[in-house]
Amino acid sequence: MVFCKRPRLLDLAKTPTHLQFNKYVLTGYRPVSTAQECLRSLFYIHNELGNIYTHGIPLFLFLVLMPFSIPWMEVDSIWICVVHYLACLCPTLGSVVYHLFMNHVGGEHVYDTLLSLDMVGVCLVNTLGALPIIHITLLCYPTLRQAVLLAYVLLSAYGIYCATTARTNILRLRAFVWQGLFRFSLFLFRVFGSGVGSPTSLRLFVIMDSLAVLGGLVNITQIPERFIPGWFDNWGNSHQIMHIMVVCAIIYLHWGTLEDLAWIKTYQCPNH
Ligand SMILES: [Zn+2]
Repeated sequence: MVFCKRPRLLDLAKTPTHLQFNKYVLTGYRPVSTAQECLRSLFYIHNELGNIYTHGIPLFLFLVLMPFSIPWMEVDSIWICVVHYLACLCPTLGSVVYHLFMNHVGGEHVYDTLLSLDMVGVCLVNTLGALPIIHITLLCYPTLRQAVLLAYVLLSAYGIYCATTARTNILRLRAFVWQGLFRFSLFLFRVFGSGVGSPTSLRLFVIMDSLAVLGGLVNITQIPERFIPGWFDNWGNSHQIMHIMVVCAIIYLHWGTLEDLAWIKTYQCPNH
């Protein structure tokens, strides 16, 4: 993996304090770098490389392959397809930029901006990803559907504000909780109320949310590196596990939405 000369990597104590966010990752920190040097770090091993590629490779694959599986021309409202595609790309895009440039010479100010970008990506997959689910669940209630879509977008904007201004992981996670509860109430409306949607998509959406929550918990608890500090510096630490779970959650979102879009083609709302 060593294609070019790599700089001397730093230990935890030698890295700037704003980059010391995981005290169980002891080595492999890149020195403060220019944008060009950050880009060059794609080609040698350091403790952010796993984070960059666990989202970078899926981002590329989603970008190129996903359009082939989306039924762009088969749905009445093409915005559903556009919004869904963007939802699937947002979190990995924000994450790759954050992890690649976090050690930029601009310091803490640049770091905070990049972290906000990463958070916005996560908020957007929650927001944009839920819009097709709302649209389909409330398919037979056009007026209510529009009101709920608007309310969800406004509340999501507030969620983005909270997530980008939060200072700790737990506060950031809290910004996503209400979005999760909102989706859960939609699922309940499908099961027990008069909400509609593909019978199989609900199970896929529940798996999606479970993976995302589990990933968030792994990240906060810093397992497994807290048990053997220094062993997971480059590979296999909690943040990389969370990244993989997020990618799996996006795939389940995609499968669930495809199920709903296939189902919507043949569904006729009953006359009220
Ligand atoms: Zn990350």
